[in-house]
Amino acid sequence: MTNDQPATHGDAPLFCDRCLKGLTPGNGEFYLIQIEAVADPTPPSLIEHARSADITSELNELVSQMGDLSPQEAMDQVHRKLTIQLCLSCYRDWIENPTGS
Ligand SMILES: [Zn+2]
Repeated sequence: MTNDQPATHGDAPLFCDRCLKGLTPGNGEFYLIQIEAVADPTPPSLIEHARSADITSELNELVSQMGDLSPQEAMDQVHRKLTIQLCLSCYRDWIENPTGS
């Protein structure tokens, strides 16, 4: 496993991840937001491939494409978990428009 845990251990100072305002734990003045991103979990559509030989060669191609990545990098491509803190005003802005569009 890796050590990229959020730095929220002990008495470490907390800051809003957006405006960098200092946050005091226990005062209810910030939101902890956990983001979990998963790549399209739908199984690839193989129905159009009539012969299993085609599928096997496609899978081999996929595996060889992934071969350049470390296991962690390959995992990051399909699953990321982030934890961020936002002060109340940043949270109110963000939750109304989380995709920033
Ligand atoms: Zn803020």
